[in-house]
Amino acid sequence: MQVLKFGGTSVGSSKNINNVINILEDYSKNDAVICVVSAVGGITDKLLLAGKLAQNKDSEFLEVFNTIKDIHLNIVNELIPGNNETVIDFVNKRLDELKSLLDGIYLINELSPKTSDKLVGFGELLSSFIIAETMKNRGMSAERKNSQELVITNSNFTKAEVNYNITNKNIKDYFKAANQQITILPGFVSTSVNGEQTTLGRGGSDFTAAIIAAALKVEQLQIWTDVSGMFTTNPKIVKHAYPIKAISYQEAMELSHFGAKVLYPPTVQPVLDLEIPIHIKNTLEPEAVGTIISNDAVNSNKPVKGISNIGNIALLTLEGSGMIGIPGFSKRLFETLSQEKINIILITQASSEHSICLGIDAKDAEAAKEAIDATFENEIALNKIDPIIVEDKLSIVALVGDNMKNHQGISGKLFSALGKNNVNVRAIAQGASEKNISVVIAENDVKKALNVLHEQFFESKTKQLNVFITGVGNVGERLVEQIKQQRKYLKENLKINLRVIGLSNSRKMVFDENGIDLKSWKDRLADGEQASLQGFFENAKALNLRNSIFIDVTANKEVADLYPQYLRESISVVACNKIACSSDYIDYKELKRLSLKYNAPFLFETNVGAGLPVIDTLSNLIASGDKVNSIQAVLSGSLNFVFNNFNDSTKFYDIVKQAAAEGYTEPDPRIDLSGVDVARKILILARESGVEMNLEDIENTSFLSDSGLKSDSVDDFYQTLVEDEAHYQNLYASAKSKECQLKYVAKFDNGKASVGLQEIPVGHPFYNLEGKDNIVMFYTDRYPEQPMIIKGAGAGADVTASGLFADIIRLGND
Ligand code: ADP
Ligand code: ASP
Ligand code: MG
Repeated sequence: MQVLKFGGTSVGSSKNINNVINILEDYSKNDAVICVVSAVGGITDKLLLAGKLAQNKDSEFLEVFNTIKDIHLNIVNELIPGNNETVIDFVNKRLDELKSLLDGIYLINELSPKTSDKLVGFGELLSSFIIAETMKNRGMSAERKNSQELVITNSNFTKAEVNYNITNKNIKDYFKAANQQITILPGFVSTSVNGEQTTLGRGGSDFTAAIIAAALKVEQLQIWTDVSGMFTTNPKIVKHAYPIKAISYQEAMELSHFGAKVLYPPTVQPVLDLEIPIHIKNTLEPEAVGTIISNDAVNSNKPVKGISNIGNIALLTLEGSGMIGIPGFSKRLFETLSQEKINIILITQASSEHSICLGIDAKDAEAAKEAIDATFENEIALNKIDPIIVEDKLSIVALVGDNMKNHQGISGKLFSALGKNNVNVRAIAQGASEKNISVVIAENDVKKALNVLHEQFFESKTKQLNVFITGVGNVGERLVEQIKQQRKYLKENLKINLRVIGLSNSRKMVFDENGIDLKSWKDRLADGEQASLQGFFENAKALNLRNSIFIDVTANKEVADLYPQYLRESISVVACNKIACSSDYIDYKELKRLSLKYNAPFLFETNVGAGLPVIDTLSNLIASGDKVNSIQAVLSGSLNFVFNNFNDSTKFYDIVKQAAAEGYTEPDPRIDLSGVDVARKILILARESGVEMNLEDIENTSFLSDSGLKSDSVDDFYQTLVEDEAHYQNLYASAKSKECQLKYVAKFDNGKASVGLQEIPVGHPFYNLEGKDNIVMFYTDRYPEQPMIIKGAGAGADVTASGLFADIIRLGND
């Protein structure tokens, strides 16, 4: 004898029912088969909805009824086309009874738990009848047996408790006499000892099957559902969740108690003592191996077996200095809730006994508060304890595993993974058996938390990075292209799954929670919504993805002004925009503080020397205890390009134009030529060396002509370059007469910084600096005479993009 149970989706359409029939046919070849079925998928919810509407005098219940009717009649017509009058007649009779019941509820305005059980029972009664009739119609040896005649309970409507003495006898007696090969039974429904219709609780068809399996002591109980087993976590929420091959009864119970809906929690109980294994299988993919729940699974070395969650949780906190002295305090608290029939899902108590925290179903929160406040009325009046605090919109997330107790550091990993992603933990509970560590978090953090924890405990080798790029102009475009090219390499070699979730230029923005397909990113962006800086932030925040990174590839102050908002959401910031780091010292410090507080790195390697590892090297020197005494540098790729190409046979204007065209200057070339850009860079290096400094503290002697300095637009400025060619030729001639090269030099020495054009003599390390190269020389305690030198291309879209990329990878290795 074998017991198989098929859930709502498995019998949710004529196509799926045909699958079920094929499976049963196969199983029944050698052995008799008992098959417990759920209602057709979604019908239980619809029945309850119709009941609620009728109770509220809302005639829309009729529409819901008609949908229920159509669904069933369609299934019958599809399964038994033609010659199906007797089946249709029977179904119509049940539907008429259902209609009368709903009319009655509508009339008297009332839906008691007793009536509710009568109402929901129709789902399973109809599905089991239709399936059995279809099989008979196809010539199979099948009978339907109404489990209301077998499963006997108390009168605890909507979640009745089974009387095993009577039930087991009924089941044994019936199957002893039955001689059909296949028996179809409705799950979930039962009868009280007084003869009223009861049910076993939502999801209870699994339980019906377990009761029958245990009564008959079969070898295995099979639960056929719409997923390929019990997964490491809910596969509808975490894409990378995978089926657990084997799991112990305790673990399965713990996971299902904490929300793994795939198995109704009481199901394990009847089969546990008899050690009947439960096999979870997928009706839509019968060849998948599924999950075996048994005692043999205990030896797995994985400490965490699964992660589950329960939504709609309210947290009750009772606090007060007087609590310690009140005798029997906890007893009174629990008694109060028990009298109200309120189930406590989680309890935590601080060791000081100053406060106690209870997690309950949010729907009971109001009743709980009223009852508890009433119980402790006197103590509250005497200020010994405070009125109870209720918080809702919470969820419990639980790590489950028999072996967790043998492994140190699991809760440490749990909290650091959640903390890094800004998931605030409101309460913690860990059973003494250490099979379960539960945390209470905000409902809207659940998806992120489950994904983060799944990555931590089940995919620890890959880290997903979710990037939001603003400013896909010249550099931004290269960055996206580099990401496109490197994605596979990163995944395979660095175990980093880099996904671009949001993209924006000044006109449009686009988002895709599953990652934008980079083959068509330009089209996707062109079809995107209207861009807005705040809107971009709001989207990144609302998606609430783990390891989110905002990348600023603009030169805009408005974008830089939003960094604090990103950091406060624990979204890391990677910027090639220099404005934030060279703004007021207080603002720069505030960004550093936020970055630390919210565990969100703020990286800006490309602010100095484009892709050259200048800031990273400097941070490493400082972190390892070195001290920077002086810095000398040529930090403007653009100015270097200009002065390397300018001579007495070229025109200054032409060279500047060429630098702009090749992308070596900022969009406004004055920012480069005035020295402001270089001043910002040396300011950033000085600050990163630990010095408090502002832009106005930097001495800046400009080489521009007076009219160039005064120009008030980019066009005007270019015009002054033409008009003042002689001024620039003089600079060149002076340097040439001394056999020097013109270099724009930044210096930091003894806490002071300056920038300006200098005539560099032969033999100086700057003399031979070519093209758009940069050079930085750090004189430190460890490098007092021979400086640490970093030299190489310091401008250009490709190298800047690769510098941004390097910052992203730094976050991936974090
Ligand atoms: P049935 O109607 O077959 O009884 P249920 O809807 O009751 O099916 O249970 C199956 C569903 O349980 C899955 O579709 C999935 O969404 C959900 N689920 C939640 N947690 C888990 C988990 N850890 N493993 C598998 N499924 C899970
Ligand atoms: N049909 C019932 C429900 O939806 C029982 C079950 O499917 O297990 O809760
Ligand atoms: Mg179920």
